Amino acid sequence: MSVIDAHIHAYPAEVAADPVAWGTEQGEHWWVRCVAPHRRRSLQGWATIDQLLRDMDTAGVDQVVMLGWYWERQATCELQNAWFIDWHRAHPDRFQAFAAVNPSAGAAAREALARALDAGLCGVGELLPQVQGGALADENWSAVFALAAARGVPVNLHVTDPLAFGSDSTAKATPLESYLAMIQAHQATTFILAHWGGGLPFYELNPRLRPFFKNVYYDSAATALLYDPSVFRRVVDIVGPERILWGTDYPLLTHPRIERAPTFRHDLADVRGPAAALSPAELDLILGGNTARLLGRRVS
Ligand SMILES: [Zn+2]
Repeated sequence: MSVIDAHIHAYPAEVAADPVAWGTEQGEHWWVRCVAPHRRRSLQGWATIDQLLRDMDTAGVDQVVMLGWYWERQATCELQNAWFIDWHRAHPDRFQAFAAVNPSAGAAAREALARALDAGLCGVGELLPQVQGGALADENWSAVFALAAARGVPVNLHVTDPLAFGSDSTAKATPLESYLAMIQAHQATTFILAHWGGGLPFYELNPRLRPFFKNVYYDSAATALLYDPSVFRRVVDIVGPERILWGTDYPLLTHPRIERAPTFRHDLADVRGPAAALSPAELDLILGGNTARLLGRRVS
């Protein structure tokens, strides 16, 4: 069974060389704040494409899904999509990639998104309305969700735990109720809610809400920075093993006390470890089976 990381980020070497200068020039101020926070050690790591491939080989990761950033400017989304199309074409057996889009940029953004999907990208996201503008319920965002449904591709949204929002200058308040309303309004769209959906799995215990979640997936990106590793077992017990995707947020340093450079190894050890307490069959689904099934549904 293949191991697939459903949530990584990747940038060209010239971006990694000076992220503050590059991001400032692009007008991507939120991204700069996230990757180079002022006056504290950054957890952001960087890796070239060659290093990424070496880290995958070392850890035994067969494929990764590169996610776009929630860029404030549609022009940056299109720049990133061009990088991703190149990398996917160079290594189609190792790299899948989702298209970046700023839904609030309207019809032109949706046309660019459709072109990126035509060129081989296989999903949409990561998206975050609190940074990109507009709201999940508005016309522009709804049109992107409808486009994704028509193309049979999933939409990944960055979702943070509303109660964990505090001193961290890179966290945005998360109105979880707006995500629930989005799910209810777009039953034909497959959503991947990153970072365990900010706590939404708990609401699947409500029998009146549960039926709405049939096309909702959760990824485990940055688990070690957010939750106890038993979160894997606990969420499987609530939603089952079929809608959970292993993801890391590589090249984020998810284990800053024990790693100095990005690696998949510690995140893999966590999901396979005793605290996660997953059976071999559950691991096969979460480590790659679910992502492979999801990405196989694409309509071209
Ligand atoms: Zn995220």
